[in-house]
Amino acid sequence: MIGDESKTIRDGAVAAWRIPGRNFMPIVAQAAGVRIDVPYNQLTDHEKEMVLHGEQKHYAIDIPSKNGRVFHMDNALYENAYNAVEDSMSTTKSEIALKRLNRFYRFFTCPMCHGTRMNPNRLSQLIDGLNIAQASQLPIGKLPAFVKRIKKWLPDNMQKLANNLTTELLNQTQPLLDLGLDYLTMDRAGASLSTGELQRIQLGRTLRTQTTGVLYVLDEPSVGLHPDNVSGLIKIFHQLVDQGNSLVVVDHETSIINAADYIIEIGPGSGVNGGQVIDQGSPAQIRQSKQSLIGPFLTGKAQLITRQVSAGDVFAKGAVRLTINRRFNLKHVTADFPVNRLIAVTGFSGAGKTTLVLDGLLDAFEAQLHHRSLPTYIDQFNPGKIKHIVSVDATPVGKNARSTVATYTNIMDNLRKKFAQLPEAKQHHYTPSYFSYNNKQGACPTCGGTGEISLDIQYLPDMVETCPTCQGKRFNQAILKIKWQGMSIADVLEDDVDHAISLFQDDESILKTLQVLQQMGLGYLHLGEATPSLSGGEAQRLKLTSHMKSRQNDTLFIFDEPTVGLHPLDVHVLLKVFSQLIDQGATVLMITHDLDLMANGDYLIDMGPRGGDQGGRIVAKGRPQDLIKLPQSLTTKYLAKHFQNFDPQH
Ligand SMILES: [Zn+2]
Ligand SMILES: [Zn+2]
Repeated sequence: MIGDESKTIRDGAVAAWRIPGRNFMPIVAQAAGVRIDVPYNQLTDHEKEMVLHGEQKHYAIDIPSKNGRVFHMDNALYENAYNAVEDSMSTTKSEIALKRLNRFYRFFTCPMCHGTRMNPNRLSQLIDGLNIAQASQLPIGKLPAFVKRIKKWLPDNMQKLANNLTTELLNQTQPLLDLGLDYLTMDRAGASLSTGELQRIQLGRTLRTQTTGVLYVLDEPSVGLHPDNVSGLIKIFHQLVDQGNSLVVVDHETSIINAADYIIEIGPGSGVNGGQVIDQGSPAQIRQSKQSLIGPFLTGKAQLITRQVSAGDVFAKGAVRLTINRRFNLKHVTADFPVNRLIAVTGFSGAGKTTLVLDGLLDAFEAQLHHRSLPTYIDQFNPGKIKHIVSVDATPVGKNARSTVATYTNIMDNLRKKFAQLPEAKQHHYTPSYFSYNNKQGACPTCGGTGEISLDIQYLPDMVETCPTCQGKRFNQAILKIKWQGMSIADVLEDDVDHAISLFQDDESILKTLQVLQQMGLGYLHLGEATPSLSGGEAQRLKLTSHMKSRQNDTLFIFDEPTVGLHPLDVHVLLKVFSQLIDQGATVLMITHDLDLMANGDYLIDMGPRGGDQGGRIVAKGRPQDLIKLPQSLTTKYLAKHFQNFDPQH
């Protein structure tokens, strides 16, 4: 209730009176005889009692306003600190206000129902030994068996009723099982679900409501799905269409594309190089199409293995060994990760991939790096020769419009030095900092160096427009007058990487970075391109540029689902980058559902057999080309099929 006892009430000591609509309460308290210009901890017990528990009464008060006028209230109602919170709680409806009010409460598990929310009397009712709270704690995957047991257990005269109920229940459960949500418990809080899980639950519900004539638009529904769940997803798509609905699905997953009735392929590249319809038609037509880029992946004519996969002993260069004794669903799991190889960690959602790699491997390395003791759930950790660990995700690079390809790499710094060295710059005493649009000396005065201005139009969202002074060049006129080879620094930033390489032949430091960007398939990016607008795959590769120039013998790179949102052709580029890292001595580990990536791995660790309490074990490990000969796990079975799709002779 009291935020800061050393403050006076007028300065906001009473936190409860900072709730909206109570800002005049200090004045009312003053009218009730409480001193409000004395620090709270110096008030008398009587005054404190008044603040916390004083009677709800009307007082006449004068509220001075900012412009000097006085606002008089005859009957201001006094709310003590507790009343202020409780009254506000009983009248508010907004989520944000509730969140703010929750800070005044402490939460305990309810002693009556022990958090089950159910009337304790109801909990004594058991079906097959379980009360309703215990039944709700079952994972969805266990529901069908439970339902069948109930039926057997019921008396004969209830069988007909039970039939209706159990059939209904099983029908509702099936879509969720098809979508691989078997590991979720039925009482799982909605707020704790991932976006993908939520999307799939909604899809399951859509199916149950038996809509017809609805157009559903799904954006990358395959993200984060095991190949087996993708099959389930396709099954549900067909059911929705059979019910008379239409579906538009944006996706890169080739099995989904193959299952479509009609394909619209957009490209050919990304950004300015995209935006055209390359081809459209049935899968059969697209498979025949000459211009289609995805076609070869649908027919299996594309190359599946695009890198030199390790042929001999994968552990020839050493290993990292990790034993987890107990962590979530992992119990006594020992994993060996071969050094200087491309490793795939696979398995269903909830199988324990993340626990093994991020909680296990990553935390163990971090503990070692900071000379801390290992997390208690790790029994054994032998890092081998690995000393560094780099975790690379596909989240956007840089948060604001000031971050560009040039500033993210070392290119901008070198460019600024280069321009400051020019005779004309020296004449004006322009130091390198003048050639930065993030500094006052360099920035365009109108837009402050962002190249755009946002127009604040009332009642409408802000509109962003190219800056009229610098035309998006970000620099001021004086700086733009300084030219190198006839170009201002802004002109250079408008150049793309591929072309800039010819400009900087004599500039070793810039040239090297440009070449790395080109090797990583980013040659089409402009040096001044704002990084927040890059795609996930582009961001991922940009983050790797600084690692590509040196030896990486003692570094392990971890990629969590690196192919999310990537076209199969982008996957090829990514594999090339992985190969390059490995050539430089690095070890690369990827957590993935992507069969193309798995096929190109040197070593595969499959967690499973499924998710939740059905997972947590290593169900397959070895070289992918060996594992597919006699596939034991679901993942390797799908991988074997994938190899066959690409190579009929296999
Ligand atoms: Zn309760
Ligand atoms: Zn400007």
